[in-house]
Amino acid sequence: MKFEVTILGCGAALPTSKRFPTAQVVQLNEQLFLVDCGEGTQIQLRKYKVRFLRINHIFISHLHGDHYLGLPGLISSMHLLGRRKELHVYGPKGIDEIIDTNLRHSFTQLNFELIYHFTNPKEQEELHTTETFSISTIILKHRIPCTGFLFQEKERKPKINKSVIKEHQLLIPEIIALKRREDVVRENGEILAWEKLTLKVPEPKSYAYCSDTKMYERVVEQVQGVSCLYHESTFLNDQKERAAKTYHTTAEQAAQVASKAGVEQLVLGHFSSRYRDLERFLEEAHAHFANTLLAEEGLKIVIDS
Ligand SMILES: [Zn+2]
Ligand SMILES: [Zn+2]
Repeated sequence: MKFEVTILGCGAALPTSKRFPTAQVVQLNEQLFLVDCGEGTQIQLRKYKVRFLRINHIFISHLHGDHYLGLPGLISSMHLLGRRKELHVYGPKGIDEIIDTNLRHSFTQLNFELIYHFTNPKEQEELHTTETFSISTIILKHRIPCTGFLFQEKERKPKINKSVIKEHQLLIPEIIALKRREDVVRENGEILAWEKLTLKVPEPKSYAYCSDTKMYERVVEQVQGVSCLYHESTFLNDQKERAAKTYHTTAEQAAQVASKAGVEQLVLGHFSSRYRDLERFLEEAHAHFANTLLAEEGLKIVIDS
């Protein structure tokens, strides 16, 4: 399964000449999901050659401008480019008013249907599911209602070699049961163990996107063991108090979350524009979690291939 993340922007608060505010694209097989949409996201989509008419689902973590100000412009461009297909927007209540007010005052009647799905900042919930993967929210702790998003592959059904089917003369109901990871007991007492007769399939992969949040125990539970965790690290330790006051995280704290949750890889992002040299983020994180990398525009993270 193709499972990739492309970082479009990883700056906090203000766009600068060095960094675009937050946005990224998650690709699952042929489907593209836009996660947050800071100012200038459509320019980044063009720059990194993401065909944005292929995006059918947009997830907005919260209503601070650095996470959604690019959305009215992107929707307007989709309209001008002749989009017909419905577009699903997931985010906190209020995102509808923001977009609808824009459209109303420009007397724009979209060529396509815009479908809002409001996220619940208090309870984890599934937002979208297919046969092969699901997307759900992650509860975060920020100054305003805010959720992250968890992309999870579903467990794949194990396969059975033809030679095994022949050898054991497996019947269709037996094959179905074995593929469901159930052992089969035949009338003569013979036991067909699914673990012995099926081929191993790769473990399902997962990606957790934690946008703005203070360090929060509940996040540790929700991202337990994910393949890749993107966690905000707006500040370094020199601004620990400021991080707590503004409900943000430091690089060290993000690494502590990754370590406690036993994730495979950590990606740091959402850097305050006060920092030019980002290497110090890595240094602070590495002391607690080795497999850490810094988000940067255009970075492609391969979760599964
Ligand atoms: Zn932010
Ligand atoms: Zn915020």
